[in-house]
Amino acid sequence: MSKNDNNCGRIERILKVHNMQQTLAQFEEHREIVKIKASKLAKKHPRCLADGNELLRFHGTTVECSLGMNGSSSLCTSDKCSVCRILRHGFSTKKEINGGVGVFTTSTSGRAFESVEVYDDYPFLRKALIVCRVIAGRVHRPLENIHEMAGQAGFDSLAGKVGVYSNIEELYLLNPRALLPCFVVICKL
Ligand SMILES: [Zn+2]
Repeated sequence: MSKNDNNCGRIERILKVHNMQQTLAQFEEHREIVKIKASKLAKKHPRCLADGNELLRFHGTTVECSLGMNGSSSLCTSDKCSVCRILRHGFSTKKEINGGVGVFTTSTSGRAFESVEVYDDYPFLRKALIVCRVIAGRVHRPLENIHEMAGQAGFDSLAGKVGVYSNIEELYLLNPRALLPCFVVICKL
């Protein structure tokens, strides 16, 4: 059984993420790699050259522990608690689903919450949202077969659904280092 509500219901709390120096360095290093790659292409992508095409994106996931409650900032070690795992070890293209294509992000919080399934078997599991700074780099779109495209060289991310006004509703980041968590939004049970 799964509770398939489309949104958060009520927000329990919002936490600011304090990234380690090393995580920040890796993120900036990744930006530089994307910029260098872009500078070697015949077709110029001004945003890639400027800042690696940085965007603010949402990643829907789940949390199991009481992170942030009573001012506690210690991360738990439960393998069901995706928020703590991501904050501890970073994103993983393997764990963050989609058949290993990439880390799934959305342009709206609603779509991010919709993408998360919470199963009744784990009574303390609830939806959470990680607001991330993302180096989107060169975006491949439109998308026909994501599994074929993932193997193609030269792109840093893949657009899933593209909305009206061509904003990218769904974006898969091919490299987990392209994401830097900034805030965590935790929903009430
Ligand atoms: Zn936890």
